Amino acid sequence: MATTIIRTVEEMRQTVRRWRCKDGSIAVVPTMGALHEGHLSLVRVALSHADWVVVTVFVNPTQFNNAEDLIAYPRTEESDLAKLTTVGAHVLYAPSVDVVYPKGFATTVHVGNVSHGLCGAHRPGHFDGVATVVTKLFLQIGADIALFGEKDFQQLHVVRRLARDLDIPIQIIPCATIREPDGLAMSSRNRRLSTPERQIASHLPAVLFHAAEQLRQSLPTHEVIAEAKRRLEEAGFDGIDYVDLRSETDLSPLDTLDRPARLLAAASLPSARLIDNVRVAPPAWKQRI
Ligand code: AMP
Repeated sequence: MATTIIRTVEEMRQTVRRWRCKDGSIAVVPTMGALHEGHLSLVRVALSHADWVVVTVFVNPTQFNNAEDLIAYPRTEESDLAKLTTVGAHVLYAPSVDVVYPKGFATTVHVGNVSHGLCGAHRPGHFDGVATVVTKLFLQIGADIALFGEKDFQQLHVVRRLARDLDIPIQIIPCATIREPDGLAMSSRNRRLSTPERQIASHLPAVLFHAAEQLRQSLPTHEVIAEAKRRLEEAGFDGIDYVDLRSETDLSPLDTLDRPARLLAAASLPSARLIDNVRVAPPAWKQRI
C-alpha cells in the first residue's frame, strides 16, 4: 500500500487514535528527508518492532546554525515518498515550518551535559533545535518506540536524555551506521560533495577505523588522536572540529581505553561538514552494551 502523507498535527493524532483502537503499536523515525539507505534501514527496524510506522520529514530550521546549510539542504519529498512506499512505511508526516513553529512559539528544550562539547561546541544552538523538535514530534505522535542512527551518536544521547528527563513514555532504539562500499557513512549531505571532495570524504572512516585499531592495541590515546587529525589534514579536509574518544554509555571524555568507547570526529569540506564515529571496545570487552 502507498505511504500516506500527513501534514497537520490534528490529522496525525486522529490517525494514531485509530491505530490505538486496534491495539496497534507505533514507531516513529524522525528524519530531515532526502532519504537514503541509512534512513531506510531505520524504517525496516521500525517495521520489525511495531505495527505502524511513521517517518517524519522536517528540515528543522532551528537546528541549523548556518543559514547557507539550511538553504542548501536537499528537499526531495516525491522520491522520499516513493522510497517509503517501497519499504512499507505507513505514514510520511511532513508538517510545514508554520505547523511546527506557529506564530508566538517561545519554548526551547535544552539538554545539559551530553549536548555540551563535540558538535555542541562547534554548532551553537544545534542540539537545542534538535531537542525541541524531537520533543514536539514525540508529543504530537505519541509513539511507543523511536529509531535513531548511531551515525549521529551525540544526538542519540541527547534524545535518550530528554525522553528520560521529561518522562516521555517512548523507547529509543539505536541503529547501526550504514556505509557506502568505501566506508563513508551515508548522509543526505553527501550528495552535495564534488567528485574530488567525495574522494577526500572517504578518508574520514578510514582514519577512524585505523585509529580505533591502534587504540585497541593500547597505543596512547593522545598520540593516536594527534595522528588521526594529521592524517585528515593530509587527506585534504579544510578544518577538523574534533577527533575525540568518549565513553559509549555517557559520552564522558576518556584518556585511556578502559571501557567501551566511541571515537568521534567532525571535519569540513567546502561543500559539507561531515561527522562519523566508530566503536572501540577494550580487548577484554567482548559483549556489546
Ligand atoms: P537525518 O535525516 O540526517 O536527520 O537523519 C535521520 C535519522 O537517520 C537520524 O536518526 C540519523 O542518525 C539516521 N541516519 C542518518 N544517516 C544514517 C546512516 N548512514 N546510517 C544509519 N542511520 C542514519
